Amino acid sequence: MEERHMDKREFLKTSGAMLASTLLSKLTPAQITADSRTNWAGNYTYSTKNLDQATSVEDVLHSVSSHSHLKALGARHSFNGIADSAVDQISLTHFDQIELDAKARTVTVGAGVTYGQLAPYIDSRGFAVHNLASLPHISVVGACATATHGSGNNNGNLSTAVRAMEIVTANGEVLIFSRETLGDRFQGTVVGLGALGVITKVTLDVQPSFQMTQMVYEELSFSQLEHHLDDIFASGYSVSIFTDWQNHRATQVWIKRRVDQGSHADPKADFYGAKPATHNLHPLAGHSAENCTEQMGIPGPWYERLPHFRMNFTPSSGAELQSEYFVPREKGYAAILAVEQLRDQITPHLFITEFRTIAADDLWISPCYQRQSMTLHFTWKPQWPAVKKVLPLIEEKLAPFGARPHWAKLFTMPSARLRSEYTKLSAYQGLLAQYDPNGKFRNTFIDRNIYGI
Ligand SMILES: Cc1cc2nc3c(=O)[nH]c(=O)nc-3n(C[C@H](O)[C@H](O)[C@H](O)COP(=O)(O)OP(=O)(O)OC[C@H]3O[C@@H](n4cnc5c(N)ncnc54)[C@H](O)[C@@H]3O)c2cc1C
Repeated sequence: MEERHMDKREFLKTSGAMLASTLLSKLTPAQITADSRTNWAGNYTYSTKNLDQATSVEDVLHSVSSHSHLKALGARHSFNGIADSAVDQISLTHFDQIELDAKARTVTVGAGVTYGQLAPYIDSRGFAVHNLASLPHISVVGACATATHGSGNNNGNLSTAVRAMEIVTANGEVLIFSRETLGDRFQGTVVGLGALGVITKVTLDVQPSFQMTQMVYEELSFSQLEHHLDDIFASGYSVSIFTDWQNHRATQVWIKRRVDQGSHADPKADFYGAKPATHNLHPLAGHSAENCTEQMGIPGPWYERLPHFRMNFTPSSGAELQSEYFVPREKGYAAILAVEQLRDQITPHLFITEFRTIAADDLWISPCYQRQSMTLHFTWKPQWPAVKKVLPLIEEKLAPFGARPHWAKLFTMPSARLRSEYTKLSAYQGLLAQYDPNGKFRNTFIDRNIYGI
């Protein structure tokens, strides 16, 4: 077993102080100041100025026993109040150990590790994780707690790689959650929304490293999606389709192929009538492709092709909002047509929409629970009053398809609807009652969306 450990023995109680001065925080649009503590996008201000910086499990135990309410904070990339607390938050940024077990094909990472830190480390030792989100800046633990996903018909969301978690629960126990310790209930804990306790480390499955290419095509007619949606999403290991909802067409298609699966697309050939891009593109028209991963069919490591955005640059637009809804994959085209009817309400406030696919899983409150899924994602301009009016319209259009919202993005769906779409929600409530009977890790987001309060 190989281990990388940088232990900083300090336990800082900050009061709205700046988070650790990482490269990432230098690049974030929302600078954290002593007076204002916000999420990455700057659209959400946390309700408390108290942020414990833990460097050891003992520190975490101390925080858990000292506060009536506590919430773990990851890399702050969620767009809603999921990571908020009225009393106290705890950051585990300093939990930066990475332990690769090549024989078991697993890697165990501290709760502060981001995919951007994990990926080059395991790749240099011959391993990969099965997929990545559009950006590498997010923490592994925070991403897995919210069922964060990339794309690919056969790729489960990132949480499906979780084999075990070490967690500090409300009564001060340090437990290992795994299939071995919990049986089937483990599937209820992985997408945990930070409500079961403070996770200190997580073990993920890894596989042999692989090379990939990325090709981008422009102007794909929706009528091609009508007849070939499955083929188009099956044309690569990971496929993303972007649209601005204008002119009944997709603006771009990004196809990420594994070289070991025969990545030999002719760079000059059309793709269902869409034209191959002649240079690297950003999904947002007019944005420089400098912060995007390499395209044009040039082979490279998996972690430099699976995300759309490169590590040391601002991902996406920066000042933005995001929403995303999961529908059954076989209803994907019908769902696209339903939302297209709202294009005149959507487009003025939209940077871009993206469609992706995710494999079904068995994680209780994953949006892909027992359902092959397609997502309709919206990167919005930072215009919340207007976006807040459009979301209920989109949710109404998608209701007949049984849409489930992304937990970490913006939605307005009433909790009653969430309960009917997330069929294992009451079983998940049972886990919360067992591990957090007095609601130490509950916050307004959990009260509203899980308990309907
Ligand atoms: C530009 C941008 C692009 C994005 N792209 C994608 C994408 O491609 N696909 C996608 O699915 N999502 C995407 N997201 C959403 C993002 O993946 C989620 O918001 C994810 O949860 C962020 O992880 P984080 O580390 O920032 O966690 P945070 O937002 O800080 O926290 C998220 C949740 O994890 C919990 N948590 C964090 N650490 C711990 C811990 N140690 N113990 C217990 N609970 C913990 C928190 O309490 C909270 O409930 C994107 C977001 C942004 C800003």
